[in-house]
Order: sequence, then structure tokens, then C-alpha cells
Amino acid sequence: MKADILTIFPGFFQGPLDHGITRRACEMGLAKIKVHDLREFTHDKHRTVDDRPFGGGEGMVLKPEPLFECLESLGVASRQDRIEDRILGRAKQSVILLSAQGQRFSQKVASELAALDRIVLICGRYEGVDERVADFLADRELSIGDYVLSGGEMAAAVVIEAVTRLLPGALGNEASARQESFTSQTEVKTVDGADSTCGSGGLLDYPHYTRPAEFCGMNVPEVLLSGNHEEIRRWRHQRALEKTLRNRPDLLEGVQLSDEDNKILARIKRDQR
Ligand code: SAH
Repeated sequence: MKADILTIFPGFFQGPLDHGITRRACEMGLAKIKVHDLREFTHDKHRTVDDRPFGGGEGMVLKPEPLFECLESLGVASRQDRIEDRILGRAKQSVILLSAQGQRFSQKVASELAALDRIVLICGRYEGVDERVADFLADRELSIGDYVLSGGEMAAAVVIEAVTRLLPGALGNEASARQESFTSQTEVKTVDGADSTCGSGGLLDYPHYTRPAEFCGMNVPEVLLSGNHEEIRRWRHQRALEKTLRNRPDLLEGVQLSDEDNKILARIKRDQR
């Protein structure tokens, strides 16, 4: 997958792209990430990328010209084609504006993006970006959460990290992506393209423990040391249900629960009272 990041602070990405799985995905050739400095697409002495807002008000706004010119230089498909392809379920590219006003980024969106050939991420700054970028250049606006950041760079780094780790082959152990929080059974593809059958089912991940088995009087749950795989599987599923009920009950509405699950949840709720 190719990823292009458009920003006025290209240096920001030296850290986030140079570590862990993102770095490895690049080294393995699974991801090709390029950072573009918007000031390179200005034509005045001061390399101006922002201007005052029409209609008055606080702060500055990112100008449209450097963004349109930079995107033009990348040779991506036209906005019309990108939108049409997405409607027809054959999207290959997406140009995304990071924005607090965007649709919420999620694991589902991350896996949608991981299936594309190319994503372009536009980072705003100041009071935001001239709205013509959202209306005529980007094909979608994404927000990483209900809070306001000072720039889109941190958000772009979040999107890049969540997406690159889903690229087939990026994780050392393929199974670890399948078991994770939010991952439904159909969202994960393995290296050979087969659908995984063991997602967390939309629940949060189960708790993990490692050595030592006893640490300052705190013990690892006995069942994990038992070697009984069926019991361990059942215990993990129960803990995942418990944790989801406690921390994110909203997620349970989107999860297919078995009769056994409903019994477990009823028991946990009863015990909580
Ligand atoms: N005036 C805007 C905030 C601008 S913040 C508003 O109230 O909605 C400057 C830039 O930071 C934005 O253009 C966007 O690119 C980025 N940004 C801020 N919050 C974000 C969020 N939650 N998700 C993604 N990008 C965000």
C-alpha cells in the first residue's frame, strides 16, 4: 500500500514512522509512506500556507492552493472516480482530510483502508483547512475522536499505525491481529487472503499475563497455567465479555451473543449488584 501525508510539519513524522510495526512494514515493502511538505507547493518568498478567514474571526486557515497543487502532483484518480468506486465497492484509493468534524475513525474504517492500494492523508492546522478541500479534493473526512487537536499530524500517525499493522504480513504473528479488541470475524484477512474465523467478535480483547506466575503476592489466574485449552478459551471469552460490559457496554449492542454469553452477562450483572 502507498500512503502519502500532506503536512506543513514533515519533520513530525520522523518519530512515528521510524518505530515498530510501521517501520517493519515499510522495510518489508508492504507499505510505502511518503511525507510531502506543503511549503514546497507555494510560490511566494515567504512560502505562505495560511491566510486570514473570510468573514472575520479568530486565527488562520490553511490555504487551498498548496493542497490542490500537491495532490495534483501525486497523480491519484479524480475525486469523482474515487467516490464512484467506493459506492460500487471497488475503491482502490482514498484522499482523506483529518478533521475534528469528520466521521469517526475505527477499527472497521482501518480495515477498509488497509484493503486499498493508496491512501492520501491531509493534515490541517490552525483553525482548520479551507472548506473547498473537503468539498472538492478529499473524498472523506475522518476524526480520530471527539476532541480537538492542534493539527492533523497526530491523527494521521494514528491512522497510519492502525492501517499498516493490518496489512497482510505486517504482524509477526498473524493470529495476534485476529484476536484483538474490536476485530469482528470478517474483518481480518490472512497473508494468503483467507478470512480469519477467530476475531474477538467485536468484544474487547481478553486480559494477557506473562511470567512470573506470582509477582509481589499477585497471582496469574490458575486456569492459564492448567494447559487445558478448552477451559482457557472459555475463560478468555468470559473475561472479554466482562471487560466489555464494564468498560464499553455500547459495544455489546453490535455483538452477536450466544445464549451462553447472555447467561454469563446476566450472572456478571447480578454479581455486580
Ligand atoms: N476549528 C476546528 C479545529 C481545527 S484544529 C474545529 O473546531 O473543528 C486544526 C486541525 O487539526 C484540523 O484541521 C484537523 O486537521 C486536525 N484535527 C483536530 N482535531 C482532530 C481530530 N479529532 N481528528 C482528526 N484531526 C483533527
